Amino acid sequence: VDEKTQALFDLYQDATKVYHHILVNTQTGEHALNYLHDRGLDDATIDAYMLGYAPGDDFLLNYFQNKQVDYQLLRTSELFVVWDDGSLHDRFSNRLLFTIRDERGRPIAYSGRRLEADDTQPKYINSPESDLFDKSNELFNLDLAREPIKKGKQVILFEGFMDVIAAFQADVKNGVASMGTSLTIDQVHLLNRYADHITVAYDSDAAGQNATKRALDLIQQNSQMSVAVAHIPDNQDPDEYLRSHDAAALADVLLKHTENPIAFNLRFLKRGLDFSNQNDVFDYINQALMLISSIDEAVVRENYLRQLADDFNISLEALSDQIRPMLMQRQ
Ligand code: ATP
Ligand code: MN
Ligand code: MN
Ligand code: MN
Repeated sequence: VDEKTQALFDLYQDATKVYHHILVNTQTGEHALNYLHDRGLDDATIDAYMLGYAPGDDFLLNYFQNKQVDYQLLRTSELFVVWDDGSLHDRFSNRLLFTIRDERGRPIAYSGRRLEADDTQPKYINSPESDLFDKSNELFNLDLAREPIKKGKQVILFEGFMDVIAAFQADVKNGVASMGTSLTIDQVHLLNRYADHITVAYDSDAAGQNATKRALDLIQQNSQMSVAVAHIPDNQDPDEYLRSHDAAALADVLLKHTENPIAFNLRFLKRGLDFSNQNDVFDYINQALMLISSIDEAVVRENYLRQLADDFNISLEALSDQIRPMLMQRQ
């Protein structure tokens, strides 16, 4: 890399070290460290992820100015916001910091979480894109997860940083996350370099399920990977699930009891429908048949048809009649 880029990498490395130091060794970081311990993270994990705490009062700016770091370098780093008068101010204040690392483990950005339950502030603030950080091309944790992914040819895609980190601590080490933005084609290609199989383990709330639908379609259209969906019980995210269950239970949810895309899509179709309403029933059956008609293997199709027949107490013959034209259309 050129000199200027290297200087930026060094700057982020230095910032990460000092933010981490504040978190683990100082009074200023104590409440943030307690917060992490309360959320179940141990010190080894906090170190492995270089988690940090950003104090207020332009702490980082003062730190770098004391070291006589070049103003232009600070200005282009995106670690600071620039006011109208040209003055710089810390972008992150009073926030817990998740360090975003590139595939080689070098810090390139942060996501700062507020600690207070204060709803007037956004829960997370992310670094904007910079010369180091092209967010559609990066995946959180890919540096640590790459070898485990290669080894098992399998990757787990989470929604949040805390899900990746909590899973890692519970010995599920092949997890990555797409950093608050929706999954991109570039990220899918990146994962397809290392994995043959991907499990989508987003939150089980409505937002997470909508994102799952989108991710499934994107992965199926842009990669050779086979896909499964991990459905986290009780409307939780994987991190929340771990707080009330042990590591083995999480591994079960993520690896054993997964849904294939057809099963996920059938469940997804049911959202918001009211099966005491005949119209909703017929709508669902029609859409379900359309989905089932996309399956190549006749035996698998038949299996889903049988299930649908059982669920709605309809004859297999009627369903077979109705799916026939859809199957013809497919060819
Ligand atoms: P936590 O467990 O700390 O509450 P989470 O990861 O469960 O966080 P979600 O609300 O499920 O948070 O959001 C998932 C991801 O979306 C977060 O990890 C973060 O990357 C991103 N995100 C959430 N809220 C915001 C926000 N206000 N601005 C930017 N990104 C956000
Ligand atoms: Mn969520
Ligand atoms: Mn979540
Ligand atoms: Mn969470």
